[in-house]
Amino acid sequence: MKLEFLLKPSVRTQPIYEPGKPIEYVARDLGLDPSKITKLASNENPWGPSPQAVAAAKRAIDRGEVYPDGGCYTLRHALAEKWSLTADQFIVGNGSNEIIELLGHAFLAPGDEVVMATPAFAVYKLVTLLFGANPIEVPLTQWRHDLNQISKAITRRTKLVFVCSPNNPTGTANTEAELLDFARNLPDHVVAVFDEAYAEYLENAPDLRPLLVENRKVICLRTFSKVYGLAALRVGYGYSSPEMCAALNRVRQPFNVNAIAQFAAIAALNDDEFRKMTIRENAHGLKQLEENLLSLGLRFVPSVANFMLVQVGDSAKAFESLQSQGVIVRPMKSYGLDEWIRVTVGSSDQNLRFLNSLKVSNFRP
Ligand SMILES: *Cc1c(COP(=O)(O)O)cnc(C)c1O
Repeated sequence: MKLEFLLKPSVRTQPIYEPGKPIEYVARDLGLDPSKITKLASNENPWGPSPQAVAAAKRAIDRGEVYPDGGCYTLRHALAEKWSLTADQFIVGNGSNEIIELLGHAFLAPGDEVVMATPAFAVYKLVTLLFGANPIEVPLTQWRHDLNQISKAITRRTKLVFVCSPNNPTGTANTEAELLDFARNLPDHVVAVFDEAYAEYLENAPDLRPLLVENRKVICLRTFSKVYGLAALRVGYGYSSPEMCAALNRVRQPFNVNAIAQFAAIAALNDDEFRKMTIRENAHGLKQLEENLLSLGLRFVPSVANFMLVQVGDSAKAFESLQSQGVIVRPMKSYGLDEWIRVTVGSSDQNLRFLNSLKVSNFRP
């Protein structure tokens, strides 16, 4: 019998997530030196990891023979202090992506519905499908989550609703008032998931903690992959009610977050200087991209995150042309945005390389 037929139905039809190609692969394919390649495809931090996190990670590997703290005790207590919440209100994951999967394990069965925006972060839909549940996709309005339409899409079968703000791939955000109002009007049988992967980049990030005080069924997700520059180490967290965190703890692996990641995350959390520098440089980079794209006559979606959607005509062709010049961006065809690419805000040199490569290609939408 073919292995295919032994698979669960949800796995048989499961789509595959296409990550940005690693620099080494692109360099090999193009016969280029990897150091000559500018990767602006995965919203990684152009300033590297927090130096304090690197030092902590190096110390941690010296104890590589010991299992990590399965409960992430120190990290959760550091987070509790930072957020003025209690340590049992945090769940730590192998990237915040793992927490999205844990939500699937805990809540989703075949026939359930999960409401999400489109285009939004691809992982919501992938996890939904993996558990045999049905994604209900609500189009953005003027590039933002349309929280009214999302509310209307909720039925008796809805288990989870995902809201990504700032949204990936659009870089647009909803206001605190909008998010609070939305959460307060959800029916009691729905869990709201607020993905705040890019919230640190906002000048005034919405504070959704009042929803926890009001005992609402919400969880907010954060990551160390972006502003803290630790994408390689895979660590993210959720803050929610103690009850929610206990439920998610039940469905995770005992040692889901490795020790190097835990120590690096604790150090990064306290490295205010690095975080502030990243945010400041990102703001400069956004401005640099905006000004130059305007003068190139290219349309873009104004962003409050560390990436930007740019309209380039044929996105697959644009992607290839940029890649042949050693600049990797993300084509947005798979998100239904055929004419757009998503570019990560890099250092000013990297941004210039991207802009110059665009000029050479001379795209017109
Ligand atoms: C990058 C990103 C994450 C973070 O994922 P990790 O697993 O923590 O690396 C989560 N949500 C969105 C929308 C993202 O873009």
